[in-house]
Amino acid sequence: MERIDVAIVGGGVTGLASARAIAARGLSVCVLERHPRPGQDTSTHNSGVIHAGIYYPAGTLKARLCVEGRDLMYAFCVAHGVPHARSGKLVVAHDDGEIAQLEALQRRGTDNGVAGLTLVDRAFIEAKEPSVNTRVALWSPDSGIVNAEEYVKALLRTGAAEGAIFLPGTKLLGADRHPEGIALRTERETILARIVVNAAGLYADEVSKMLGGEAFTIYPCRGEYAEFTPAKRCLVNGLVYPLPHASGHGLGVHLVRTTGGQVWIGPTIRYQEQKDDYESDREPLESFAASARRLIDGVTIDDLRLSGSGIRAKLHPPSESFADFLIRRDRQNPAVIQASGIDSPGLTSSLAVGNLVRDLVAESLDVAP
Ligand SMILES: Cc1cc2nc3c(=O)[nH]c(=O)nc-3n(C[C@H](O)[C@H](O)[C@H](O)COP(=O)(O)OP(=O)(O)OC[C@H]3O[C@@H](n4cnc5c(N)ncnc54)[C@H](O)[C@@H]3O)c2cc1C
Repeated sequence: MERIDVAIVGGGVTGLASARAIAARGLSVCVLERHPRPGQDTSTHNSGVIHAGIYYPAGTLKARLCVEGRDLMYAFCVAHGVPHARSGKLVVAHDDGEIAQLEALQRRGTDNGVAGLTLVDRAFIEAKEPSVNTRVALWSPDSGIVNAEEYVKALLRTGAAEGAIFLPGTKLLGADRHPEGIALRTERETILARIVVNAAGLYADEVSKMLGGEAFTIYPCRGEYAEFTPAKRCLVNGLVYPLPHASGHGLGVHLVRTTGGQVWIGPTIRYQEQKDDYESDREPLESFAASARRLIDGVTIDDLRLSGSGIRAKLHPPSESFADFLIRRDRQNPAVIQASGIDSPGLTSSLAVGNLVRDLVAESLDVAP
């Protein structure tokens, strides 16, 4: 049986950032990932937006870790050559009635520690995004974009340099309590870990059950994208968002100019049963064109083509509107740390999540953080 201080289940951005931080602390750590490569689930099926931290209720982990993680991510991208841009973002109002909502969003963001949020007029909007059809918007200067695939690779590389061991093609099949921690069963070997971090994304509920941890449910929620045809990419320069859904179920179908120069529109929102169904019953192109026309006049289905999709690992059912990240020492099994329910802004927050997980591991092992 192999022995290790910390085993992390899940090699997405949550698991990789945690492994990197824990290894840098001097503990031995490995990451079990069922796929042959890291980050193949949600970590590379998202908008690639670095969120400033505007949207989340004050005092939540999402609010705190987004702001912390955003700053860490910009610095990390610079230090490790990850393609990114602090492009700024416009949240647009469609009519005067929505201006009060922009002001409320501005207040919430400012309370969360987001600097520079400003209501801007047509002249400002025209200079940034001439095609966007609105008179008033909220400008968020610290929002940006990152190439998620390159970010995953850089997390893996820098984690390995600290001594973290990545185990691709290693699915956790079962686990047994052991006097010194938890014995993790995989197809190839059994690993005895003093602490196990659950960073299994969409499967975190099933993994928690295997580990003898807390019971919770992950609700898969698909988000689909379309993209502008190459000839129409010039219509968007950066990030353009509507106001978030009143239901609280998402930030609204938005426009993203990626680090590669593509322009995406999405993601939609649909709860579904399956955790791995990205393609069946896709939204028609016309629904994306209709969403696009709320931001840019005259967009038709000829300007768009269907693009990818991602699946959010939500901790709440459709009848509820918010759940915070579940990051804590497990309440059932003291050898488990939960890093579960990491839906948006989980990409932005990942380095801050990793640092928090490292501190919880240190606390559990009773070593100085
Ligand atoms: C449509 C969409 C848009 C988004 N846009 C943004 C955005 O613009 N900005 C932002 O900040 N966030 C965004 N997010 C959220 C962000 O993508 C996620 O919060 C983040 O990727 C979660 O990472 P993770 O590592 O927790 O999960 P994952 O990336 O899903 O990683 C979990 C890993 O665990 C592995 N695993 C599961 N079970 C096992 C097992 N039994 N054994 C071994 N391995 C296992 C999986 O294979 C997977 O690789 C978006 C999400 C979606 C779906």
